[in-house]
Parts: sequence; C-alpha cells; structure tokens
Amino acid sequence: MRLTSLLLAGLLACAPRAPAQPLPELGDAAGAAIAPQVERRIGESIVREIRYRDPAYVDDAEVTAYLESLGRRLLSTIPDARHEFEFFAVRDPAINAFALPGGFVGVHTGLLVAAESESELASVLAHEIAHVTQRHIARLIGAQQQMQLPSMVALAAAILLGGSRPDLAAGAAAAAQGTMVQQQLSYTRDFEREADRIGFRTLQEAGFDVRAMPAFFEKMQRYSRLGDDGTVPSYLRTHPMTTERIADAQGRAASAPYRQSLDSLDFHLVRAKLRAESGEARDAVEAFAAAVRERRYANEAAARYGLVTARLRARQLQEARTDLAALRATGAASPMIETLAARVQQASGDAAGALAALGAALQRYPGRLPLIYAYAQALQQAGRHPEALATLSEPVRRQPQDARLRTLQAQTYAALGKRLLQHQAQAELYLLRGSVPAAIEQLQLARAAGDGNFYELSAVEARLKELRARHAQDERDAKR
Ligand SMILES: [Zn+2]
Repeated sequence: MRLTSLLLAGLLACAPRAPAQPLPELGDAAGAAIAPQVERRIGESIVREIRYRDPAYVDDAEVTAYLESLGRRLLSTIPDARHEFEFFAVRDPAINAFALPGGFVGVHTGLLVAAESESELASVLAHEIAHVTQRHIARLIGAQQQMQLPSMVALAAAILLGGSRPDLAAGAAAAAQGTMVQQQLSYTRDFEREADRIGFRTLQEAGFDVRAMPAFFEKMQRYSRLGDDGTVPSYLRTHPMTTERIADAQGRAASAPYRQSLDSLDFHLVRAKLRAESGEARDAVEAFAAAVRERRYANEAAARYGLVTARLRARQLQEARTDLAALRATGAASPMIETLAARVQQASGDAAGALAALGAALQRYPGRLPLIYAYAQALQQAGRHPEALATLSEPVRRQPQDARLRTLQAQTYAALGKRLLQHQAQAELYLLRGSVPAAIEQLQLARAAGDGNFYELSAVEARLKELRARHAQDERDAKR
C-alpha cells in the first residue's frame, strides 16, 4: 500500500494526471511567476522542515556529497543557471525525485537504488533541474498573486510533496484549498514536457548516455503499475502521459549520437551504502556476502564496500577488517573508502589510527566535506580542539550555510571555553534552522560573554543589528 500511495504522490509531483481543461500557453504563466527571492524563501522553509524535522531525511554527508557532485556536473552545462541548487536524499522506497522552489532537489533512496546506471539517475535529476530553471513551480504558485507567503509555502508543499511526505503535507494541504491545488496541477502537463525536453539536452551536454532517459522512464512506468497491494490506481490506468513521455524521449535518444558514459565509483558506493544500511544488519551482511561470493555485482569494490558497511553495523569487527583488506586489494580509490576504513578502526578501538588515516585521506582528497567532518570529529574526540578549529575555519568560510560545519565549530568553541564564539556559531545554526529570535538570543549571550576581542564584538553587534531588522520585517510580513 505504502509504495502505491507514494508512487501516486510522486506522479502528482512529476507526471500529473491528464487535465480535462485546455492548457494555458507556457508563456502566459511566465509573467505571473513569483519573485526569485520569494521562491527561494518558500523552498528554504519547506527544505528546513524536511532537513530538521522529517525522520526520512538522509542525514548522510557522503550521500549528499555524491548527489551534489552529480548535480554540479549537470549544472555546469547551464551557463545562466541563476538558482543556487542544493541536492539531498530522502529515505523513501518510491522511485521518485522532486524539485522545490528555489533550487532544492530531493532524491528518493528508491530512485538511487533502482537506477542501474548513473546516466539513469542523472536523467531524473536533469528533469528536476529543468523544473527549477524553467521556473515551473514559481509560475504555478505565482498564478495566485494575492497569496501570503505562508499560504504559498503550504501550496508548494501540497503540490510537490503530496502524500510522499504526508506528515509535512498534511498541514500544508489543509491550508491550501484542495480545489486550488487541482487547478494548479493542471499546468503541469506542459511543464513535464518542457522539463523532459530541456532535461534531455542537459543530460546530453553533460556527457551522459541519453538512452538512459527513455529506459528509465519505462522502468518507472513498469514499477508504477505494480502497487504492492496488487491494485492499480484508476488514474494511472488512464494516464496517457507516461507513454507519451517515453516515446518523446526515445525519439530524442534515437537521433542523438551514441555516447558511452562510465559510472563513477561513488555512484556504486553510495547505492551499496544505502542498501547496507537499510533493513536488518544481519540480512544486509548475508546479501552482500552472497553477492561477493557468487560474483553477482555490477561493481566488485562496491559489493565489498557494502559488505564491510553491513559488518560494521552488525558489529562483526574481525570480519569487517578482513573484508576491508579485500576491498583495498581491488585497488579502488575513493574518499568514501577512507572514511569507512576509519570507522572500522574507530569501532575496533584504534582511535589514533583512525585519526591519522583521516588526516592522510584529507591530504589526498582536500576539501571533501565528509572527510572534513569525520576528521574534525576525530580531532575533537582526541581532545585536539585547536586543530579541529583550524580544520573547520576555511570550510566554514567557504560554506557558511553548512549546518554540520557550524555544529562542529560550536562544539569546539564550547570545549575550548570560548563563549562569545560558541554563541556566535550557535546563532548561525539557529538561523539555518529558520529561527531568527533564537539566533538573536544567542548573539545577545555572545555579546554578554565578556571573552571576545574588539573585532569579535563588533562582528556580533553588526550581526545582531542585521537580525533584529530582519525579525522586525518578518513581524510586519506576518501581520500584513
Ligand atoms: Zn516533472
């Protein structure tokens, strides 16, 4: 049942039912699009709900880093991409992805696991990116110009998330009138067509195998017919879109020059990690052990990586070390293998060895966020807080929106007894979570801490002033 309803939700987001009324021209809706800043704010508030309150959010730095890198590869072909994109994963078996207003793209783990090639996964991402760059969502929401921001958030959440995040969408759907949602959805058939066409071009220009797009569309259609309670929802049966979309994609792929595209190692590692970390640990060990034994795998290193990950979960440390050696023997190289090796060492009680290994890995793969997190954390645990701070400073400067970096930084300041800096970092964390009043409170604590120098105090003052102004503006917006 769950799979069916989730698939339906996905289809609402990405392959909506055929509308009865005539479709408006895409150009007509463009004029009504909401402003990009408003769009970003809507997306931010939805993504905050997912990131900090939805247990299905995949809080895994390596999975996120992989999706980010795949997304960047596609985006590098779009010279005027004005949106700042962010990619993340949601634990959900339905084969789906969704784009939120403002450039946030969510990918279901079901999609990651079902994609048999990186090009297949990329074809769905390219489609979602096109929804954003073509400002489809902005235009959907913009058709209701008089709407207040909270209602726009609710409407966007109801349209885009539907049943796939029911806890989030429930309040949203209640807030947005059902009829209005239906009306809005009627735009999306043309939007789907446009997202497919532009997504195809992106896929091609980024050097992926374009035949993956029709192949994956077919796969999605096959899966969507198989609800696990055996019933097929009526509007799927009468759904003409998917067949048309497949035919269009096939036509485009047939006229494109053949191009082979090799999957990255991390594509296979991420999928193995997700599989190794779902279900019962012992079942995961069995599945990967059998795959390795019988050589049933698309990628040997990934199968061995999955086995080590599963053994770590099952606390089979001796075997994990042996299998890690076998993984190393394949010659495969990835920062993901380095963090896994460090985790095995940590679990085996060799904290010093893990710390040294992470330090060396960071030399080899500089700037890789998952390694930076793991290394800073290991330094903290070893009580080497000044080094942890030094490791974090440049990444925080480069990526001030990264909550994990900010958390590590705040923890390190706390351990060092630097109270002004700790509250200042904490303020930025609250801000990322959408709470301006809590951020202001932290900045007041920072100001009163009494252990900062002139420059630090000035920075706190300036930020406090800025946030108070923002808070006052928010209050006025809410009353309007
Ligand atoms: Zn779509």
